[in-house]
Amino acid sequence: MKPTGPIPPDFSASEGQLVIGGQSVREILDGAETPLFVYDGGVVRARVARLRATMPEGLGIHYAVKANPYRPLLAMLGDLVDGFDVASRGEMILAAEAGMDTEAISFAGPGKRDAELEAAVRHRVTVNVESEGEATRLLAIGARIGVTPCAAVRINPDFDLKGSGLRMGGGAKQFGVDAEVAAPLIRRLVDAGVDYRGLHIFAGSQALDAGAVAETQRQTVELAGRLSEEACVAPPRVNLGGGFGVPYFAGDKPLDVEAVGAALGDVLAARVEVLKGTAFAIELGRWLVAEAGVYLTRVIDRKESRGETFLVVDGGLNHVLAASGNFGTVVRRNYPIAVAGWFGAAAEEVVSVVGPLCTPLDRLGDRVELPRAEAGDVIALFMTGAYGRSASPEGFLSHPAAGEMLVRG
Ligand SMILES: *Cc1c(COP(=O)(O)O)cnc(C)c1O
Repeated sequence: MKPTGPIPPDFSASEGQLVIGGQSVREILDGAETPLFVYDGGVVRARVARLRATMPEGLGIHYAVKANPYRPLLAMLGDLVDGFDVASRGEMILAAEAGMDTEAISFAGPGKRDAELEAAVRHRVTVNVESEGEATRLLAIGARIGVTPCAAVRINPDFDLKGSGLRMGGGAKQFGVDAEVAAPLIRRLVDAGVDYRGLHIFAGSQALDAGAVAETQRQTVELAGRLSEEACVAPPRVNLGGGFGVPYFAGDKPLDVEAVGAALGDVLAARVEVLKGTAFAIELGRWLVAEAGVYLTRVIDRKESRGETFLVVDGGLNHVLAASGNFGTVVRRNYPIAVAGWFGAAAEEVVSVVGPLCTPLDRLGDRVELPRAEAGDVIALFMTGAYGRSASPEGFLSHPAAGEMLVRG
């Protein structure tokens, strides 16, 4: 038997049936087919409310669209957060269609094509400039179409988020401009007459240690102050990045966001003069949406092989690559998993839950303890609201796409 991650506390049982956002899985699947992602809007709203209550007054909360670009979810989030961060023109369009004011959208990512930059400039989306070459192209595009670009500079910090699942800062990186050489680029953009929007500093993802997140935020504010003094320009905004992690695996403890908020309040209160008029923001993806998502997949076959039991389900890594352990983790560990029709019932057996793909990587639960499930029963995989459908190789084996549904939107 191998352990599974903690089931988020937002889900309950009614007569043994898993309930998501007030509806039982039986009711949800009355008019929908598996595999299906169900997102509980109430959970997302609660996350945002908790942040608003704990983060320093006036701190902007941005949503990183790549975590989950499902349109109804974006439309809902558009009313809850202060901005969207996008990483492609496609996401920019989704963000705008969700009703987000384009001036509250920022665009990061290495390798922005000219057409993407042009679309951003035309719609006054803030471009987080990631290199000298990108700055040259941005300025040329602005001059050619006669529109002043809105530009911030994305910094590759000289530190990274400790205990972070994915390291995005520190060392040599394709993201952002190295902190040591960023001041001249800031100066260059300002002197060229862009609408300077400030700095974007993102040091990592998926950290559960409040002390590490707080320390990174402290270093980030310090770096923003130092660079702004060096470039002799006050940044209208500083995007502090995110890095707030969520508990996917056994032993993971939720991030103490109250402690992070308190520490950030102290840091901002003590900030240097050049940052006094600056607005600060954080950008979060998974922390806002991961726990809201449940992936429902139906058992097609139950089989034995050399003493082990396999539940073969109709969904797999083509929809939930991360839950199969093949996206952003080194060692495969089990996400929280349950039999939807026996939610909360005692475990009776050890099984492996596997998808229909022709690869042994297609494993959604590795020797997990569950109540007995038969063909036709529904398996629920939790923590699948972020980096699910859109971060999976949907075309692999040409199975149908998973459905998506927002409840309590
Ligand atoms: C992916 C990404 C995020 C969101 O990361 P999460 O771990 O989902 O919070 C935020 N900012 C940038 C620049 C990113 O690339």
